[in-house]
Amino acid sequence: IKILAIESSCDETSAAVAVNGKVLNNIVATQSVHENYGGVVPELASRAHQQNIVPVVDQALKNAAISREELTAVAFTRGPGLMGALLVGTSFAKGLALALDIPLIEVNHMQAHILAHFIDDPKPKFPFLCLTVSGGHTQIVLVKDYNLMEVVGETQDDAVGEAFDKVAKMLGLGYPGGPKVDQLAQKGNPKAFQFPETEMPGLDYSFSGIKTAVLYFLRDQLKQNEGFIEENKADLAASIQKTLVAMLLQKLRKAARQYGIHQIAIAGGVSANSGLRNGLEQMAGKEGWEVYIPAFEYCTDNAGMIAMAGHYKFLANEFVDQGVSALPRMKF
Ligand code: ATP
Ligand code: MG
Ligand code: FE
Repeated sequence: IKILAIESSCDETSAAVAVNGKVLNNIVATQSVHENYGGVVPELASRAHQQNIVPVVDQALKNAAISREELTAVAFTRGPGLMGALLVGTSFAKGLALALDIPLIEVNHMQAHILAHFIDDPKPKFPFLCLTVSGGHTQIVLVKDYNLMEVVGETQDDAVGEAFDKVAKMLGLGYPGGPKVDQLAQKGNPKAFQFPETEMPGLDYSFSGIKTAVLYFLRDQLKQNEGFIEENKADLAASIQKTLVAMLLQKLRKAARQYGIHQIAIAGGVSANSGLRNGLEQMAGKEGWEVYIPAFEYCTDNAGMIAMAGHYKFLANEFVDQGVSALPRMKF
C-alpha cells in the first residue's frame, strides 16, 4: 500500500509518502510571506500553495523513489482549514487520483494531528485521551480507534495557539509568536505576575479572557512606565505561559479522572511548547499516566500525519469520489 498524502489547510504546503503504514518522508514548504503581516493572509496562502504543490509532491515521490504510477491511493486534507488553501490540495489530489485511476481518501486535519502518534514508537494504546492544541483548535479527544474519536471538551472561543500568538504580538515578539513566547519564558520567572485562569463548565476551555486580562494589565503598566514590557519581557512570557499551561492541564486531568484513562497524548503545534511538555510530565508522575508527545516535526502541520490517517482509512475501505470538495469547517 503506497499512499501519497497532501496537506494544504493553512500555511504549510506538505507532501509525504507512506508504504504499508510506514511514513518514508515528510516534505514541508513553510510559507514565510505571512511574517510581514503578523498572521496568515488567506489569499497569499492559496497562491503560495499553488506555487509549492508540484515541487513538494515531486520531491516526496523522488525521495521515496516511487513513481506516480506505482501509487495505490492519494490522501488529502479536506478540512478544517482555510477554504482557498484547502482547495489547492483537494483539487490536486482529485486530479492525480483521476489521472492515475486510483482511490481518493479524505482526511480530517484534526484527526490527523492525533494519528501523528502512530508514525513513530512508542504508540499509545486505545482508548487514550488526546489534548489537541493548535493555532485554530483546543480539544480534548477520546480516541477509541484509528477512525473512531469523539471530542469531549473544547474551547468555546479562542484556541490556545491563538492566545499564544496574540500575547506574543502584545509583547512585540512577531509572528508566529508561540515559539517565541516559549523561548523567552525559559529565561523568565513564572511567578512574577498573576493572571486569572478562566473557569469553564465541564471539559470546555475559554482563552479569550486571559488575552483581554493581559491587554489591560499591559496598558495600565505602560501608563506608569513606558519601558515596562521591555524590562519584564521574559517574566511576562513565563507568567502567561504558566497560566495557559495550567488551564490546559487542569481540564486534561479532569477528563482523565472522569474517563478513568491513563494513556494520555498531546498533539498540534502547541504540543511543541516546553512548558506544556514539562507540566505534562510532572502531572503524569502524580496521576500515574503514560504520556505520548510527538516529535517536533509532527507537532505542527505536516503531510506525514495525513499519510498515517490515509493509511488507516485505506485499511477501512473509506474512500471518496470525485464529487468531494474542500470543507473549511469539517467536523469529526
Ligand atoms: P489547526 O491545526 O487548528 O488548523 P494550525 O494548523 O494553524 O491550526 P498548527 O500548525 O498545528 O496549527 O500549530 C500552530 C500553532 O502552534 C501556532 O499558534 C503557534 O504559535 C503554536 N506553537 C508552535 N510552537 C509553539 C511553542 N513552542 N509554544 C507555544 N505555541 C507554539
Ligand atoms: Mg502553520
Ligand atoms: Fe494543524
